[in-house]
Parts: sequence; structure tokens; C-alpha cells
Amino acid sequence: MRDAVASNWIAPVGPHLDAFERELATAVEAPHALAVASGTAALHLALRLLGVGPDDEVLCADLTFVACANAVAYQGARPVFVDVDPATWTLEPNLLRQELAASAAAGRPPAAVIAVDLYGQSADYDAIGSICEEFDVPLIEDAAEALGSTYRGRPAGGFGRFGVVSFNGNKIITTSGGGALISSDGEAIERGRFLATQARDPAPHYQHSSLGYNYRMSNLLAAVGRGQLRALPERVEARRANARRYGELLSDLPGLELMPEAAYGRSNRWLTCVTIDPERFGADRDAIRLALEAENIEARPLWKPMHLQPLYSRHRAVGGEVSELLFERGLCLPSGSALEGRDLERIAAIVRRLCRAGR
Ligand SMILES: *Cc1c(COP(=O)(O)O)cnc(C)c1O
Repeated sequence: MRDAVASNWIAPVGPHLDAFERELATAVEAPHALAVASGTAALHLALRLLGVGPDDEVLCADLTFVACANAVAYQGARPVFVDVDPATWTLEPNLLRQELAASAAAGRPPAAVIAVDLYGQSADYDAIGSICEEFDVPLIEDAAEALGSTYRGRPAGGFGRFGVVSFNGNKIITTSGGGALISSDGEAIERGRFLATQARDPAPHYQHSSLGYNYRMSNLLAAVGRGQLRALPERVEARRANARRYGELLSDLPGLELMPEAAYGRSNRWLTCVTIDPERFGADRDAIRLALEAENIEARPLWKPMHLQPLYSRHRAVGGEVSELLFERGLCLPSGSALEGRDLERIAAIVRRLCRAGR
């Protein structure tokens, strides 16, 4: 950062931006990365680059942050929500196939599919990728929560036509706000760069023939990102250690389960999430959340499914029972990389006190 300031590259261009993009591409083992102002901006660019427009449908995992659906709406298209697999909490391949088959038969294939790597857990890309290929629908990987995770040994962010990552303040590494679009398609990334800088035509004056956006990341924040990227491996270890320790402290409690980790990958465990079966546990998710809050400890419910959002409740959904149950029972525990053993023990003790069997 000192170098960025001293060299006066306080702009959405500069050497740290170029280097950050190279280093990020290396980290996710993809040929190209474009650093932008947010993960949402990257999602929007991906859809724009795929030519998604009004009257198009885009299939999207139901259990996710609203950014996915909003990016679809920015293009005037309609998101359709597909339920998740209870074993992974990510896009359910069989439902995806069923919906793609039905829409192909109706002659109205969707313009794209957005799979989400939830809380760090990759979606099942062998299955999803081959289904999308079979129906010739482009796939976008929303890896906003999954930087540092892997699927069958390959880094999250590198699957599908486009991958999206986020450097928002709450993510595993951060530039305070930021994101990136990742692809093996160099031409698409160059076009994305053009659109992200207000689509300025090559002319000495300011001339525009396409609709562009001010979506570029600044050189100053890219310098922050370079420092953060170096810390990624240890952040992943810290988050995984949180999940492991919570497991040791809590998994004997009846009715409490940690988010399962799929055998096909290694999650960055961005957040440690649990589900609570109130009957077996003896208290419900909200009782735990409120007991933690009373001790000045913040815990949050899982993402509210998109088909239950007032903004999107009139949209089509394929299934939705799994994401509804997860929302009803799921809780994200405090998961920061700087948490210490005694913090986790204090949190776990409060959770244990609420469990019938733990009292
Ligand atoms: C955080 C997040 C985004 C959006 O990223 P921003 O950088 O906050 O715009 C998109 N999708 C998911 C799943 C996220 O968690």
C-alpha cells in the first residue's frame, strides 16, 4: 500500500492491479482474472458477457446470498431457483437436470446456470458441468465464499465459463470491498475489462458505443489484496481449525449437526454452520442465537432461501423444501480467523447449556 501511494497509482489502473490479477489467477489455477469493485459486479459482468437479457431465465441455487439473483435482475432477466442437496447444501444435480430437460422440451432453455459454493463448500462440478454441457447452457461458479477451497483437488473459482470471487469485508480474505471475474476465455475477460471501465471506445475523446459500468477495483485496494492473498493458506487453516474444534466441543449433542463436508472436496470452512433439530436438541436455533446474543456474541441464521425472499417470492422455484428446512434449523457460528481456543470454548459452553442432554 505504501508503494501504491508513493508511486501515485491511486486509480483503477496500476501495477498492483495487474499483479493482483496475475496472482489471483495463479491461486485459482485459471488463465485470467479481472479485479472489480465487488463480487456482485463480477456476477453481473458474467451474465452480461453471456448475453443474458430481458425475458431470459437463469437457474440459480436457492440457498445463497441475494447477490446472485440481483445480478440476474440487473440484466432484466428472471432468476429461477433450484433447491440444494441436503448432503452438500449446494445445487442439486438431479433437480438441475430435471429442470433443464423440462425447459429444453418446452423450447425455452435458460440462458445460464449459477452454482454457488456455499459457506466454502464447492458444488458438485463433475455432475453439474456435464449436465450443463449436455443441455448446452453456460455455467457460472459463484465462489464468493469459497476462495481457498478445492473440488477434486482443483481450486474453487476455476469451474464453469466464469468464476466469481468476493473480497468483501466479511469474506475469508478482503480488500474492504472487491471481487473478481475468473475465466479461461481471455477475450471475454478483455471485454469484461472494457465494460467495467464505462466501455470507452479507443478514441482521443470520450466516446461510447456500448453501455458500460464503473466496476474496476482501485490499484490501492489491489495492493491490499496482494497482501491478503499471501495470507489465504493460513486463513483456510484457521477456519478449518475452528470447524474442527467446534466439532470436538459440540458433536456429541443430540440434534446438533455440523454442515457436512462433501468427500469430493476440501472446504475453506468460511463459516462454521450447524443445524439444530429442536425436538432432539431440546431448544431451537433461535434460542441458541439469543443466548449467544445475551453474551454479546453474534451468530446468524443461514441465508434465507431466495424463493422465500419478498423480492423474489413470485419467481419460479424447483423444489425448495431442503433449503427451507436448512433455513429453519441452521445457524452460522462465530467463525473469524482470529478466534482463539478459549473463544470457541466459551461459545460452545453456551450452546451446550441449552441442550437438554448437555445440561
Ligand atoms: C458475498 C457474496 C456475493 C457478493 O459479493 P460482494 O463482494 O459482497 O458483492 C455473492 N455471492 C455470494 C454467495 C456471496 O456470499
